[in-house]
Amino acid sequence: MKLLEERIAKDGRVIGTEILKVDSFLNHQIDVNLLDEIGKELFRLFKDRHITKVITIEASGIAIAVSAARYFNVPCVFAKKARSLNIGKDVYRSKVHSFTYDNDYDITMSQSYLNSDDTVLIVDDFLANGAALKGMISICEQASASIGGIGICIEKGFQPGGDEIRSKGYPLESLAIIESMSEEGIVFRNA
Ligand code: 5GP
Repeated sequence: MKLLEERIAKDGRVIGTEILKVDSFLNHQIDVNLLDEIGKELFRLFKDRHITKVITIEASGIAIAVSAARYFNVPCVFAKKARSLNIGKDVYRSKVHSFTYDNDYDITMSQSYLNSDDTVLIVDDFLANGAALKGMISICEQASASIGGIGICIEKGFQPGGDEIRSKGYPLESLAIIESMSEEGIVFRNA
């Protein structure tokens, strides 16, 4: 998605060799016009998949999921990052290793909001090693929900998550794929 790549090139900040900060337009302050275009593009990519729910993990996935869900005209459901003590019985649950904080956390989703009638679009802001996606895939499996698509805003193609998820046959589309990045600049795949 040209618009997103241009914005990343202009306003993204590379930290070291592995982290890209997009706080000025996606992860802290949000450019709502860009967000709307992201939702529209996710709809264009997956509109034939009979999506009934758009799911993500709180917090930074929520805005993206809401924007997409608006175009599909379906509910958005976000997995909560739960404290172990807090977890009730009627939830799907999975453990995720955080790329940014280098620790493990549980995600939960109420069984009331996802079931075997659903065909899900999973979305997230970033794809790095794929742990967050695997957590959401596990939740869909627990619910016996079908995965109609996976839509990522920014995939870091030099990290292994994207290749691994695609090799398992999941319909994964990323709006911008970064081939390499450093403080000197960012190179996009297929640019
Ligand atoms: P993964 O689980 O694929 O290793 O990492 C994806 C998750 O980690 C995303 O939900 C995102 O919140 C966070 N993340 C991974 N890489 C980056 C990055 O370069 N920048 C930011 N801001 N978040 C990232």
